[in-house]
Amino acid sequence: MSATILDGKAVAAQLLRDVGTRVQAAKARGVEATLAVILVGDDPASAVYVRNKERRAAEVGIATRDHRLPASTTAASLHALVRELDDDRGVDGILVQLPLPAGIPSEPVLLAVDPAKDVDGFHPDNLGRLMIGKPRFVACTPAGCMRLLAHAGATLAGARALVIGRSTIVGRPMAQLLLQADATVVQAHSRTRDLRAEVERADIVVAAVGRAELVRGEWIKPGAIVIDVGTNRTAEGRLVGDVDFAGALSRAAAITPVPGGVGPMTIACLLDNVALAAERRAGLVA
Ligand code: NAD
Repeated sequence: MSATILDGKAVAAQLLRDVGTRVQAAKARGVEATLAVILVGDDPASAVYVRNKERRAAEVGIATRDHRLPASTTAASLHALVRELDDDRGVDGILVQLPLPAGIPSEPVLLAVDPAKDVDGFHPDNLGRLMIGKPRFVACTPAGCMRLLAHAGATLAGARALVIGRSTIVGRPMAQLLLQADATVVQAHSRTRDLRAEVERADIVVAAVGRAELVRGEWIKPGAIVIDVGTNRTAEGRLVGDVDFAGALSRAAAITPVPGGVGPMTIACLLDNVALAAERRAGLVA
């Protein structure tokens, strides 16, 4: 058996077409979907991420407002900018690109973002709403993973789903989404005793750790669906996931590649959230 490779680029392209249509509908109501992007400092990887997000936004008709601040920016002036954007009725979404420079703790900044404009879904208000099954915005990477699982035709109700990683932005919301889809969820993390045994039992594996090929192909239960969130550079400069892709191919029913799996979905889901915020401002959805 060779696994179906889940093409994140194609699934993302389909979602982005839908986003473009909804953005136009909001525009017809006089609302221009607008995303404010804050980038502090000169981290090259962050600059690439921001450029990709802004390029995709332009393709679907979402306006972006670029706020580039030097690494010497103080926490106080960053907070003041966030508050200004919170109050700006022309802004639908606010994205603070992480990581922030060492001197600026990220948590207070993320807390300052108006939850109604928190298109990343990182604010505790939005995480709490997800927890009670009434999400306003779902964090983009887990939302993208759910769409990939739907695309794979995964039956989630009753399935044993393993989420590896418990970060606030990926692992935890991912486990919540799977739970709400009626999966039996196990959350593994750095203190899990026998990761192999957990993987061997799982019908669905979502790996979000950040350790190259931690999950060996021979651990995968035959027929399992594998979503690999990890992005890691090998010593030779190759981009690989948290799962041994070549080894898993002969066992899994479906698997996401790295790159080209979860990554494109994350950006598409961010823009889906911006479109949703604009639809709300236009009175098109509740
Ligand atoms: P994080 O560092 O915040 O969390 C990593 C998690 O892995 C922790 O909860 C930790 O407990 C767990 N962990 C560490 N070692 C482990 C082990 N040996 N066994 C089991 N669990 C272990 O990272 P994050 O922000 O959640 O990101 C995880 C990975 O996903 C990274 O590689 C990141 O680059 C990638 N990522 C990709 C996208 C995308 O769009 N493709 C988006 C977000 C994150």
